[in-house]
Amino acid sequence: GAHSLLAGRGTPAIRRALLHASAATLDALPPVVSAEPPSHPSFELLSVEMVEEYTMKVARYRHIKSGAEVISAQADDENKVFGIAFRTPVSDSTGVPHILEHSVLCGSDKYTSKEPFTELLKGSLQTFLNAFTYPDRTCYPVASLNTKDFYNLVNVYLDAVLSPRAKRDPAVFAQEGWHYELEDPSEPLTYKGVVFNEMKGVYSSPESLLYRASQQSTFPDTTYASDSGGDPAVIPDLTFEQFTAFHDAYYHPSNSRIFFYGDDDPASRLALLDEYLSPFTAPEAPVPSKIETQRLISETRRVVERFPASPEEAKEDAPSRMLMLNWLLNEEPLEPVDELALTVLDELLMGTRTSVLYKAMAESGLGSAVVGGGLSDELKQATFSVGLKGVKADDLPKAEMLAIETLTKAAQSGFEADAIEAAVNTLEFQLREMNTGGFPKGLAFMLSMLPRWIYRDEEGANVADALRFEAPLSELKRRLSSGEKVFEPLLKKLLVDNQHRTVVEMRPDAGLAEEWAAAERKRLEDAKAAMAEEDIQQVITSTAELKRAQLAEDSPEALATIPRVGLADLERKVKQVPTEHSTLADGAVPLLAHPLPCAGVVYADVVLDLQRIPLSELPLLNLYTSLLTQTGTSELDATTLQRRIGARTGGIQFSTMLEQAIGDKGSVGPADAVIHKLVARGKAVGDRTGDMLDLMHAMLTDAKL
Ligand SMILES: [Zn+2]
Repeated sequence: GAHSLLAGRGTPAIRRALLHASAATLDALPPVVSAEPPSHPSFELLSVEMVEEYTMKVARYRHIKSGAEVISAQADDENKVFGIAFRTPVSDSTGVPHILEHSVLCGSDKYTSKEPFTELLKGSLQTFLNAFTYPDRTCYPVASLNTKDFYNLVNVYLDAVLSPRAKRDPAVFAQEGWHYELEDPSEPLTYKGVVFNEMKGVYSSPESLLYRASQQSTFPDTTYASDSGGDPAVIPDLTFEQFTAFHDAYYHPSNSRIFFYGDDDPASRLALLDEYLSPFTAPEAPVPSKIETQRLISETRRVVERFPASPEEAKEDAPSRMLMLNWLLNEEPLEPVDELALTVLDELLMGTRTSVLYKAMAESGLGSAVVGGGLSDELKQATFSVGLKGVKADDLPKAEMLAIETLTKAAQSGFEADAIEAAVNTLEFQLREMNTGGFPKGLAFMLSMLPRWIYRDEEGANVADALRFEAPLSELKRRLSSGEKVFEPLLKKLLVDNQHRTVVEMRPDAGLAEEWAAAERKRLEDAKAAMAEEDIQQVITSTAELKRAQLAEDSPEALATIPRVGLADLERKVKQVPTEHSTLADGAVPLLAHPLPCAGVVYADVVLDLQRIPLSELPLLNLYTSLLTQTGTSELDATTLQRRIGARTGGIQFSTMLEQAIGDKGSVGPADAVIHKLVARGKAVGDRTGDMLDLMHAMLTDAKL
């Protein structure tokens, strides 16, 4: 049958061939990395260091006049990344950072079309273009493979954040934030605005409300107790003056962190930045944007919040409630080895379907799905959350008890050795491979460094350390191999004995949506009642003006300010992936190898022909491929098999491939010439390639179906 290709002499031969292919690695540093970081009279070079883990040189600068901090990373990666981030802590839920994030992308001094962002999405070769509002920072990243396109994007983004039209044209705030809308004096006033509407959507989602209540209750005394995205009930409190004052204070270069990454010329980066930054002077006293620390509180707090629900969901015995337990884990930054150990602990508790806490919650029958992703470390202090949704009121105490008891038991009896091995290997594999898929790698590096960069500035913390893992990893492995219990005491300290815990219960309320709508109507009625006739006329006029402006086309001159790449800027050569052809099993099986720098990881597809499968069995194929990894084999039960895959490989999957054959001279092939294959796809570090193929072989030939 189809499986015979892997039997007999095939396996060792594939193994040898793959090992040979994996030996193709790079020895010398690429020139772009070995080059000395440039100097520039406007910049002070603060530090230069190598991040060996990812073959990257990281230079840190300060722009002397404006005070902007810059990281310029030299890496042999054509997917170039730029980002500028500002610390934007809030003290209310007007959503000012979120509205500003939208607004700065609506045109600027140099780029005068209404929405340069939309124009760039249409006409650029960008591989990433977006903006994020976090609870304490706002971040504007772009990426492109094409150098000219990349610098176009950088120019537009720098001008957008530093000189936006939104500062001088209140129509942008009205459109993106909120405004009164009225067309006829006899009609009721309404609120409109892009962020206002977006956040109404967010606030109608029960799970969003759960996560919001969890964050706010975990950090009751800091900026995280407010909603930087904006609460629809609070957004209309924000005035245009407050909005521009927020930009003045927080979008100053002295409050920014600027990041460059890739294989472009580092001197061009500094020259371009100097153009944009030199008009600004660092203030004598920097804007107070430091994110304060939440002190650990030694009592469990309970929060009950309502969410809008249907009458059916709101019935007393309906399985519609949600429960989440949240812990604040630390006041001071963790030591690197503890940080790494905590990530492994999270994998042991929540990482896979067989992880103890996830499994206990998911299989408890107390709820419909697990909520809370376990460890979260993107804010100043780490948190841990777990819970269930779709819970009956009577089962809420049971679900809470189950989480606590599962954690207590794990801290007492410990984790199984093969579970620990699998979790450590899974993490190590992810760190080494740094496979970000379609997401630019440089952006992943920037987002990893940003927390340390914005939280620890005054302590002179080494930002690049955020990417380093070799030293803490070997320390962790040393402690584990000496027989030390690493995870159990950490679990006891950070979760079991830690009383800074909030228990958030979400209750369905069939009347809540109407209650919110009524409050909004009342507010709008009061506002209208307080308006003089000419105020009402003013709202009607500005409503019409805004609509006219929104419908108006950009002038050709304004559109022409948006830089574009032309045909001449495109690479004309097609990139060829090197391919070596050989055969296995006395010429019976073709082997294609692509020798590429893969940081020591071997990627393998074993492709088996399905032509001989009877048509009647074809509908079973999807079920078959998904069962292969889930049933275990005659030697390994399902959990042991999962752990072994985790311990020895970077993952193994099965899928089917259905393609039309290529015809003569590359033409479309005959309509009935279909290629149908079963694909076993896996990845492993070079010296584990044999283990990976053995596991594939065992699942293909010996799955307990
Ligand atoms: Zn938004």
